[in-house]
Amino acid sequence: MRCPKCSSTDTKVLETRAGKESASIRRRRECIACGHRFSTIEEILREDAMVVKRDGRRESFDRRKIITGIRKATEKRPLEFEQIELLVSEVMKRLENEYDVEFPSRAIAEAILVRLQRIDEIAWLRFASFYEDYRDAEDFSRGIADMGREQSE
Ligand SMILES: [Zn+2]
Repeated sequence: MRCPKCSSTDTKVLETRAGKESASIRRRRECIACGHRFSTIEEILREDAMVVKRDGRRESFDRRKIITGIRKATEKRPLEFEQIELLVSEVMKRLENEYDVEFPSRAIAEAILVRLQRIDEIAWLRFASFYEDYRDAEDFSRGIADMGREQSE
């Protein structure tokens, strides 16, 4: 586990707690290099979760990829790594409820965007444009535009 502040991998666990639904474990950690304290959440992953792309291709769902994307969008924003982890956990729960094991890539992005907007407007905009860049979806940007409209109404 890397320290979100200095990237050192030298961290120690201060406290371990079972999460609300006990499918997750929360750990309070401290970076030995810089003393920064942060939390991590460990969850049982569904090995079978897949992402369905717009062109119908499937690939295994990769939580790290999503976290990387969000971290990129939240760079230099006042967001704790823990908030991002929580956001992703919420997104996962939502997707599993709604889609079981095959998540449309667009649903993933939208679930993230809706939550990101509540936390940090700048990060939300960045994430939206980031997705626009590398998704094939014209629809997707239209979706974002719609969301923006709903917001201002
Ligand atoms: Zn550190």
